[in-house]
Amino acid sequence: MTMRLPGMTVMKNKKIPMRQCVGCREMKAKKDMIRVIKTASEDETESQILLDATGRKNGRGAYICQNSECLAAAIKSKGLERSLKMPIPQEVYDVLTKEMEELETR
Ligand SMILES: [Zn+2]
Repeated sequence: MTMRLPGMTVMKNKKIPMRQCVGCREMKAKKDMIRVIKTASEDETESQILLDATGRKNGRGAYICQNSECLAAAIKSKGLERSLKMPIPQEVYDVLTKEMEELETR
């Protein structure tokens, strides 16, 4: 039996695309988030992990809030590795952390 919940009306306004942060696991508006991508490459070992501040690069992506805490949480929980399906070396995390700090202070 299906129940129709009161107040569950279809939104007529433009839908805001939501994405889940790999750090805090909260759903947030895509535009408030930073994409972390694995660049597409024939050879997996040549794939790079980058912060995609423009949201226009190709590759498998994960979304994260624009703050260092969420990045730190994603690193600690290995949420990023799970989303991107590859092991991420510490030096890559160091670069991401630095880039995130720069975005924050911009
Ligand atoms: Zn977050």
